[in-house]
Parts: sequence; C-alpha cells; structure tokens
Amino acid sequence: MLTSEATVLREPDTRPAYRPFRSRVERIRRLSPHFTRVTFTGDDLDVFGTHGLDQRINLIFPLPDVGLSDCGWDDEQPLADGHWFGRWRELPNECRNPLRVYTVRAIRPVERELDVDFVVHGDGPAARWLATAARGDEIIVIGPDALSVNSGLGIDWHPGDAHNLLLIGDETAAPAIAGILESLPADREAHALIEVPSASDALPIAHSGRVRVSWLPRDGGDPGSALVPAVREWVECRPHLVGTTLAAAAQTVDESADPDAMVWDVPFAPTGANLYAWVAGEAGAITSIRRYLVRDVGIERGQVAFMGYWRRGRAND
Ligand SMILES: Cc1cc2nc3c(=O)[nH]c(=O)nc-3n(C[C@H](O)[C@H](O)[C@H](O)COP(=O)(O)OP(=O)(O)OC[C@H]3O[C@@H](n4cnc5c(N)ncnc54)[C@H](O)[C@@H]3O)c2cc1C
Repeated sequence: MLTSEATVLREPDTRPAYRPFRSRVERIRRLSPHFTRVTFTGDDLDVFGTHGLDQRINLIFPLPDVGLSDCGWDDEQPLADGHWFGRWRELPNECRNPLRVYTVRAIRPVERELDVDFVVHGDGPAARWLATAARGDEIIVIGPDALSVNSGLGIDWHPGDAHNLLLIGDETAAPAIAGILESLPADREAHALIEVPSASDALPIAHSGRVRVSWLPRDGGDPGSALVPAVREWVECRPHLVGTTLAAAAQTVDESADPDAMVWDVPFAPTGANLYAWVAGEAGAITSIRRYLVRDVGIERGQVAFMGYWRRGRAND
C-alpha cells in the first residue's frame, strides 16, 4: 500500500520530474518462487513522489569490479538540472552501469523506504544483481521527485471515467497492477488477468470488493500462453462491454517494421468510455493481445493502453 504522508515541507517547483536517489538495500523478502521484494532505504527518500499506481522508475545497478560510476549522484547541480543522464550516457561502455525499468510497489517517505518487487528470472544484470543482493548493497534509484510539480510523470494508467476496467499483464506487470488495484476507489469495477510462472506466484492484493483478480499460471508454457486465451474468453463472455465497438470497422494496428521495437501506446481514455483496458508484459504477447483487441474486436485505440515491459531473448538496455 502506498503511504501518502510525504514529509515535503517545501512547495514543489519546476525542477526535473525525476532525480537520482542514492539508496541501499534494507531488507530482502522472498514472496513466492518468482517474486522477491527488495526494500531500499536512502537519506532522500522522504522526498520520493507518492503517486504510486504503475509509476515506473529506473534502477542503476553496480558493475562487478567498478561499482557505481559517478554521474553526480550526490551533487546539487546535476540533481537540479537533470544532467546526470548525459553523464551516464557518455560513460565508457565498461563503466556505464546497467539501467533497467521497474515499478514503485510501495513508498513510505516517513520511514524513507521504497519497495520494489523483482521477478526472479534467469539472465541479465538486474537478475544477476538480485541473485546476490544483500543488506547494505548500494544502488541508484531514478524516481519521481516530490519537490517537482511534474512528479506524476511515468504513470500510464489513464482510465478517465470508464466504468469497466480491465488490467492484463504478466508477472513483470503484477506490481503495477497491484498498485493500481490498491488505489482504486471502492465504487470502481475492475478485473485483472495476471499471467505468472506458477500457481504459487499468486500474491495477496488489498483491493475493494468490486475488483476481481484471476491469476493465470503458465506452468512452463511460453509467455502469453495463458494470458492470450484468457483475454479472448473475457471478451467473448462480455459482448455487452465491447458491443458498441464490435460493430465498428476493424482498425489497423500501427506496428513498427523493427522486430526489436518495444510496443508502447498509452492514450488517455475519452470521457464516457464504456471500457478501458491496460495491457503490459512480454512484447510478443502484448502485440498479439493488441492485434486481437484493436484489430479483430475493434475496440477504440483510445480505450486501450499497451506497454511492452520486456522482450523474450533480448536485453532491455
Ligand atoms: C514500465 C516498466 C515497469 C517494469 N516493472 C517491473 C517490475 O516491477 N518488476 C520486474 O521484475 N520487472 C519489471 N519490468 C521488467 C524489467 O524491466 C525487465 O524484465 C528487464 O528486462 C529485467 O532486466 P534484466 O537485466 O534482468 O534482464 P535483461 O538484460 O533486460 O534481459 C536479459 C535476458 O533476460 C530475459 N528477461 C528479461 N526479463 C525477463 C523476465 N521477467 N522473465 C524471463 N526472462 C526475462 C530477456 O528476454 C533477455 O533474454 C518493468 C518494465 C517496464 C518497461
């Protein structure tokens, strides 16, 4: 659950929306076979933004033998003008610390604590870091600055006033879906379809009674193998929800010719939309779901947000 008590004493100003927070591991808790929660702490986390929902953050991991290269993480000026990014990009390859995108699972500014739920998987700098992470390990979190008027950046949940909310995702999107469901007003109806590696990866989510969560174990199947049929079944069982658009002419789907391009299309739902769908996870599976919802079913593009969170066989760098 997100805590709303930020200890922000100054008025937010026009500084960059995101800034680096030097942080260290405070606790590590194995939540399930494929989820590990890491709680970070840091001197400045009292001014970490508290919007929650699916707000994304970047984590900058130390390199073996190099540690964390200095990009002005602690200097007032690069923090104020956002120049740390240029410095990070210009580092020689062997010193440039890997950067990966994650989701704020919870923030407790008063305790200066941030939770991130990591998926445990085989390969990659983030996965390798997690495998040996221990209390006190240092990391840089690039996150929302509560002192900025733009600290709500990086949120892709824009349902407007849609009555029916559908959240579709795999395990990498589970932290975002949990954050969204836990923030929903009690009168909003929502259904979440979450594909996870195994049935034991279903995690508790504190939500109101009008929310339904279906955990879909893929049990060794390919990414999307449980999710794609579940989305089809959900739509087929609810013609009244998509009915107004089912009759619409099938829409074309803009797809990049670059097979490595990450699918990312995040609209703001129009006022009065009947249905809003939020879809995130492995890019190939998300592309299939996008084709189905927009091209085959004919749901308005403005009512569906699609986000490729990772791509099978390709590093996210
Ligand atoms: C907005 C956003 C929010 C995200 N939030 C979270 C989050 O809260 N928690 C979380 O765990 N992830 C989250 N992700 C996904 C995460 O960024 C990727 O999984 C990332 O690739 C992990 O980095 P890595 O260094 O471990 O692997 P990479 O170096 O990126 O990839 C190395 C190899 O591992 C594979 N791989 C990457 N991720 C997975 C996976 N999950 N399962 C199986 N194979 C994988 C790749 O296909 C590649 O073959 C989010 C992504 C985005 C864009």
